[in-house]
Order: sequence, then C-alpha cells, then structure tokens
Amino acid sequence: MPAPKGTYDVLPAAGFLPVRDGLLAPAVRAGYGYAEAPVFEHTDLFARGVGESTDIVAKEMFTFSDRADRSLTLRPEGTAGVLRAVLDAGLHKGQLPVKLRYAGPMFRAERPQAGRYRQFQQVGIEALGLDDPALDAEVVALGAQAFAGLGLTGVRLLLTSLGDPACRPAYREALTAFLGGLDLDEDTRRRAQINPLRVLDDKRPAVQAQLADAPLMVDALCDACAAHLDAVRASLDVLGVAHEPAPRLVRGLDYYMRTTFEFVHDGLGAQSAVGGGGRYDGLSEAIGGPPLPGIGWALGVERTQLALQAEGVAPPVEPGVQVFVVPLGAAAKSSAVPLVHALRAAGLSADLAYGDRGMKGAMKAADRSGAAYAVVLGDRDLAAGTAPLKDLRTGEQTPVALDALTTHLQELLS
Ligand code: AMP
Repeated sequence: MPAPKGTYDVLPAAGFLPVRDGLLAPAVRAGYGYAEAPVFEHTDLFARGVGESTDIVAKEMFTFSDRADRSLTLRPEGTAGVLRAVLDAGLHKGQLPVKLRYAGPMFRAERPQAGRYRQFQQVGIEALGLDDPALDAEVVALGAQAFAGLGLTGVRLLLTSLGDPACRPAYREALTAFLGGLDLDEDTRRRAQINPLRVLDDKRPAVQAQLADAPLMVDALCDACAAHLDAVRASLDVLGVAHEPAPRLVRGLDYYMRTTFEFVHDGLGAQSAVGGGGRYDGLSEAIGGPPLPGIGWALGVERTQLALQAEGVAPPVEPGVQVFVVPLGAAAKSSAVPLVHALRAAGLSADLAYGDRGMKGAMKAADRSGAAYAVVLGDRDLAAGTAPLKDLRTGEQTPVALDALTTHLQELLS
C-alpha cells in the first residue's frame, strides 16, 4: 500500500537525520534548547497565530474534531505551538531571551509537487523576549550557517523589513490605493483587500508588469524601523553574512513585522525557498499572551536535501557501526553474540552477521555496515583464544587475544 498522497517515508539510505540535525547544529552551539510542542493543537491557536487571511488557515489546514467535538488541527508550522508552550510554562518571566530550537513534521494540504509535500519536515529556532537588532542578526546568521555547514554554497539570503504598527498601516493604505488603480482579476482584487502586501508576491507576469511602480514598504519605514533594519544589516556585515535587499518579499504568515527574510536556492525550480523567517512581535498578543517580541526561522529539510543534490554535495550520512563480527560456525556464533554485546556495553558500536550466510556473504555485510574493523571468529581461533582482527580499510589482518579485544578496539577507535 503506498503512503498517502503528499507524504513519503524516511528510510536510512535517504540520509535524512544527518541533514536535519546538521541544520540545527549551529543553533545548538549558540545555546538554543530543544523544545517539542504537540503535533496537533486547538484550531484556534493557528487561526489566531497564523492568521485567518493566510492561505494556510484559509485552505491548507488538516482540521478534525476529537471525540468530544473539539476542533483540532495538525500543526502547519512550528512557531505558534512553541510560543504557546513558552507562555504556558511561564518561561517568558525568566531569563530573556528564551532561545529554543525544534524539529519535526508539519502538515499543509497543498498540491504536492517536487519539494512540496503535505507532511514535510522543518527545523526551526525562536528567540523570544527581546527586540535587539543584534539578536535578529544572530538568528539570521544561524540560518545561513545551517546551510553552509552542510556544504551548500548556493543559498542566497533575501532580507527586508515589513515595518511595524507605526508605519505599516499608512503604507498599506498607499498600496491599497495603488492596487485599486490596476487591472486585476476578481480573485486578486479580493486578496488585495484582505492583505494587499500579498499581491506584491504574485508571480504571474501580467500582474508583475503592473507592479513596477508599486510603493514599497522599505521606502515608507518609520525612523525606528529604518534604524532597526540598518542595524541588522550592519551586524550581518560584521559577521560576514551576505544578504540581498528584497523590497517585495512578503511572508505567507500574518504576524511578521520588521526583520523579514528568506533563504532561496536557484537550483530548485519553482519551490526555491529553502527557509524563511522574521520578527513576530505581535504574535504573543494575537494568541492571548502578554506583549512579547520574538524572532525565528523555519528551514525545510526536504528542500535542503534537494539543494544538496542540485549542488552535487554528498549529504552527510549516518555513521555505520565501528566493529562487525563474522562468526564462522556454530560454536563461534554462540561466542560472537556475547562478544558483540560486550563491545556495545564498552561503548563501541558493533554488529554481527546473523543468519548462516557463509564467509563471503558475511564479509559483504561487514563491508556494507561501514565498520572500520571486522573480527572473523572461527572455531579454531576460539579454541586458541585469539581472533583475527581485520582492518577493513587496508585489508590488513592481525591476531588479537580475545580477552584483550575490547580494550584493543577501544584504543584503536578512540
Ligand atoms: P514557511 O513556514 O512557509 O515559511 O516555510 C518555511 C520553509 O519550509 C520553506 O522555506 C520550505 O523550505 C519549507 N516548506 C514549506 N512548505 C512546505 C511544503 N509543503 N513541503 C515541503 N517544504 C515546505
């Protein structure tokens, strides 16, 4: 039976985990603690926290009723749940900023295509409680490092500011007035009324052609927002993180303000965004909490895998075992099982050839295991209390006393 449409299976050969964990490695080094909120939440959290006018809430949520008729929704993104968890636990009343990272599946009922799934995996970070442009720069830089750390060189960082409640309303009005004078279809007109900024992001050439003279948020920022954007850019320059102005960048989520950014990769075709994020100072209040500034990002794991493929970068692989034991014969087998157990107890990773495959099949399994060393146990060796230890990289074989094998391997592999 195939998996449901828009989903896929993670199996070891896909190298999923090293990519996912690799993306978060810079955040781990920067003190972002691991957080995990439920995969489903009350629908209201996303309706308020993501925004009723967004495509996500309007048409992409997997919503269902539980047995007590409560409306629940599979999370379409991670920020609202993590923020809810922080508020519930009162972490925002302690040391600030609260720095958290998360990883896990998100769910959106989108039309599946390359790089777009209905269950997809994101990693993300959130820094809550402070509005400090240096913190914005740290968050953005950790995103850039996430991709660079995996060996990607083709990820571009687009950065802009969406203003704040002091300057966005007037800009919105100016944009609405501008859009009102254009020749737009009914659907787009309706969209313009709900969120005019979203129209700027319309990819259709006929719409884009009319938008050449549209007013831009970056030209209408209040002094405080302009200074904030300058400070973030200056910090990124100091950190050596390249960034490009993106005056037409808008985000699908309603609660973004000021710093807004996207990571794009040109080798992915239509779905070029590999990650994105921004400052969401209004979100806490939107979900019923106190005023609490915050900034974060989410990166797509599958699209990162596609970017690695597009650049021809070998993805990191899960490490295999260190030692592989090959028993030859029944007596050797009964000694091999406790030997492998003892090696594991000593902190080494070890496996053995199960089943009776014969020497050739077992050595093939040893090679495939990724082990650095194989211990080939024959009945005669056992009687003599030694075993040949084979270095699988050089092919060199040395006899080692069985009772010294664990310490010998520990020394070799330390
Ligand atoms: P967003 O939460 O929409 O800002 O998405 C952040 C990142 O998650 C995007 O840049 C993509 O890399 C990834 N992403 C979003 N939606 C999907 C999807 N349906 N399938 C796969 N990846 C996705």
